[in-house]
Parts: sequence; structure tokens; C-alpha cells
Amino acid sequence: MSVFGMSRTIMRNLFSGPATRLYPTREKEPHRAARSRGRIEIDIEACIFCSACAKRCPTDAIIVSKTDKEWNIDRLRCCTCNACVEVCPKKCLAMGNRYTPPTVTKDKDIFRQPPRPPKEPETIPGA
Ligand code: SF4
Ligand code: SF4
Repeated sequence: MSVFGMSRTIMRNLFSGPATRLYPTREKEPHRAARSRGRIEIDIEACIFCSACAKRCPTDAIIVSKTDKEWNIDRLRCCTCNACVEVCPKKCLAMGNRYTPPTVTKDKDIFRQPPRPPKEPETIPGA
């Protein structure tokens, strides 16, 4: 590359702004985020704790406890393969189009189903 060509590249880079993004303080523009697979989201109210997602997960990122009505995910293990979303019989898993914020710990995201109100006893007409 000639000195002239090199100077042109230097000048262009000087005035074109940074090529990288200040992650996480600056998020991607929505149209770029739309191309990302995002991250697993759960509608915990709809979950029946069948463990199909956990069995299908290739990285063992999901743990399900039917007894505690608890579903949790280790986001650092998840490779966003979408297999759990495809296998869920209640369709309560989805790829949310947003970023996983950076973290310095290996905490899991834990979701607990709130207790359901007891069913009203059936009233028999005329009784
Ligand atoms: S497959 Fe769906 S319904 Fe079953 S435990 Fe996973 S999220 Fe819940
Ligand atoms: S997207 Fe894939 S790796 Fe991530 S939790 Fe679901 S099955 Fe596991």
C-alpha cells in the first residue's frame, strides 16, 4: 500500500467513528437484534414441569423440579439451539429477542410457579 493509500485509510478511520459497540452500555439497534436468536424465556404459569425441555437440552442448561414447581436455566450453558422450545408440549418456551446482560457470577435464572388458588367446591343445584 502506498503512503497515499495508507494516509487515506488513516483519515477515514479517524473520522468514521468506532467500529465496535460499547457493550453493554449501548445495545444493538432493533433491526439487528431481530436477527439474533435472543434468549430463552418461559411463561412459568403455563409450565406443567414435564421435564421434556431438560431431557432434550444438549448442554444440560435446564433443571426442572416438579415438586418445587421450579424451572431454572443456566444461561452460560445455553447455546440457543432452540431444541427446548421445539419440544415443549405447552408452548411455554420461546426465544425472547433481547440480550442476556453480562454477569460476573454463574447464577441460574430461577422461575417458580406461584401457588394456584384452591378450586371452588361445586354446588349442586337444589341441594
Ligand atoms: S417442556 Fe415446557 S412444560 Fe415441560 S417442563 Fe419444560 S417448559 Fe415446562
Ligand atoms: S436453547 Fe438449547 S441449549 Fe439452550 S436451554 Fe434450550 S435446549 Fe438447552
